[in-house]
Amino acid sequence: MATLFTEPPKPPSLTRPMATPKKALVVFEILKKDYPNPRTELVFEDPFQLLIAVILSAQCTDARVNSVTPGLFAQYPTAEKLSNASAPVVEKLIHSCGFYKNKTKAIIQTAKSLVERFEGKVPGTMDELVSLAGVGRKTASVILNQAFDLPAIAVDTHVARVSFRLGWTQSKNPLKIEQDLKKLLPEDLWALVNGTLILHGRKICKARKPLCADCRIAKQCPSAPKTKL
Ligand code: SF4
Repeated sequence: MATLFTEPPKPPSLTRPMATPKKALVVFEILKKDYPNPRTELVFEDPFQLLIAVILSAQCTDARVNSVTPGLFAQYPTAEKLSNASAPVVEKLIHSCGFYKNKTKAIIQTAKSLVERFEGKVPGTMDELVSLAGVGRKTASVILNQAFDLPAIAVDTHVARVSFRLGWTQSKNPLKIEQDLKKLLPEDLWALVNGTLILHGRKICKARKPLCADCRIAKQCPSAPKTKL
């Protein structure tokens, strides 16, 4: 008698051989030379400005954010001022960043949280940062790195993709990827990981067609020369 249910075919394995800390370090040292200044391109003068700029940068280029933040911060230079802002005025100021209604709500709410719970200052720990409205682990890691010079690894789409292809992680979950990267690379490099992998991901290890022939770490990469992600 025929069975009603059959096992679905197993998907092809998407895993890569996992790198060792030693091998990952060799690769990262090459990337560090190729991308010597991997800091954020967002322009900011203090942690508050960076936090707001990072929230605005969702689905938007850093250059575009940099074009609106001077006007925004001229009018609302502190969390206290922004927490009392009129939404239509803020919407007009940040309009060109896209999703301006949601982003306006998010930055005013974040400013309110800062005023209500942190005396208007941006806190300097992961737990406090992620407790703020509109702040996830990725944004918090960027703030810790760039505003406070603390070790953290922000995992975005480029970091996830490049790490996976390099065999630095076998996960697609940002928190697990962050944990895998922290086990592989020494703490003094964590602050460089996000910027370095973003630059490599944008320039060489592109999402659709990675330029493996031009990649200086192809010899060490388990996904070269053919990559399917
Ligand atoms: S060899 Fe290809 S897949 Fe590997 S890191 Fe370089 S561009 Fe990406």
